[in-house]
Amino acid sequence: MNGITAFTVDITTLALARGIVQMMLGGLLLYLGSRHSDARDARWWAIGFFVNGLSLFVFPFALPAAWEPPRVILNHLTLGASSLFFLIGFWKFGQQPVRPWLLVLLMLFPIVSLTAWEYLWPNARYRILFTAAGQILYLFLLQHSLSHPPREEIARLYKRLRYAVVVYILVYIWSYASIAEILPTTARLTLGYHRSIFSVASLLYMLTLAVGCLTLQFAMLAARNADLARIDWLTGLLNRRGFFNALQLKQQGQRNHSPTSIVAIDIDHFKSINDRYGHACGDLVLQDFSQQLQAHAGNGRLIARMGGEEFLIVMDEDLNAAATLAEEIRKALEQRSLVTSDGITLRVTVSIGIHQVGTAESIEKALINADQALYTAKENGRNQVVCWSFRDLPADQRHYRADSRMRAHQPQNS
Ligand code: GH3
Ligand code: MG
Ligand code: MG
Repeated sequence: MNGITAFTVDITTLALARGIVQMMLGGLLLYLGSRHSDARDARWWAIGFFVNGLSLFVFPFALPAAWEPPRVILNHLTLGASSLFFLIGFWKFGQQPVRPWLLVLLMLFPIVSLTAWEYLWPNARYRILFTAAGQILYLFLLQHSLSHPPREEIARLYKRLRYAVVVYILVYIWSYASIAEILPTTARLTLGYHRSIFSVASLLYMLTLAVGCLTLQFAMLAARNADLARIDWLTGLLNRRGFFNALQLKQQGQRNHSPTSIVAIDIDHFKSINDRYGHACGDLVLQDFSQQLQAHAGNGRLIARMGGEEFLIVMDEDLNAAATLAEEIRKALEQRSLVTSDGITLRVTVSIGIHQVGTAESIEKALINADQALYTAKENGRNQVVCWSFRDLPADQRHYRADSRMRAHQPQNS
């Protein structure tokens, strides 16, 4: 520090200001959590900021010596507890499991350090270091949680928060290693410097975290609102608009030239379900069918309800894979019966048209072709799979059921 004029920060004022700002931002998070059911988990963060603010309020004031032990205990415990609430907040926000044993471990650090300090080892330096080690463990857990963003839309925000946490971990380690005189003399800070730098760093970190939490929560709400516009409320599948958006994104991101197949599905005589059993039963069939689609085709494929009882699957596989999947879906539906709570048994079949997108073919044209194949399946008696490539074959050979596939190929082979 030779030759540098020591800059001084009024630590007490800074700590109080930090506490107040934290409480205010915590209040905002609490407000957000109580207004939106989707943001309820923000309340964990809010409690974290309140408790952490409390740990700051108890520290700066000059108190009689007799108050010192309870103040230290309160400070350590509130600091530990705030870490728990922050972590729970991030685990819940990130849809990660809450791990109680880690929370217990985090709380054990200040408790053990206080107990040891009181009864076994009356050394303030070790007490502080032990509690600091608990805080560093917490920061690492936070860092880990931030490396798994729950949604694509907030991945960048997560990344930035991660940088902030890493910087703070380094400052924290440097700061406490300096107090403990673990660092080489040249890297050590004098206590005055340590307090100033650490206070400013903590203020910046806490502000970043609080603003980060608020921004994350708003970004999540915005993403959920966007979902409402692109997801069909009845079935939870993509709607027409969501389908075309997703298709566009998929085409932009596609680098390899893997084959793409389209499967167009329409429930047979669906109107008669509505007419015979009512619209609510029709809705049930649509929901059940959508679950079946997800169960059979869910992995990495685009599945959409394009309107009414018409569905589309877009998959990065060839015609054979599409035909196998389509036949699997057709058979599953044929064998399925859905019993309503009123004891009504509902059974439906589906007609399916499949088409593999040609190398020079636009996706729009390919969608029309899949639709044409579906139309052929309807025309030919329903409850069957038809491939657009075989549209010119005689009616009894253009089916693309798995068991008749070889027959459909034979005219071309012989
Ligand atoms: P086809 O075998 O030729 O496809 O006959 P279909 O009766 O399935 O086809 P059509 O297009 O004549 O009838 C579709 C029906 O789907 C008409 C419409 O009332 C019904 N529908 C569309 N959307 C919904 C919905 O969200 N819920 C219910 N319950 N019915 C719907
Ligand atoms: Mg129909
Ligand atoms: Mg239809």
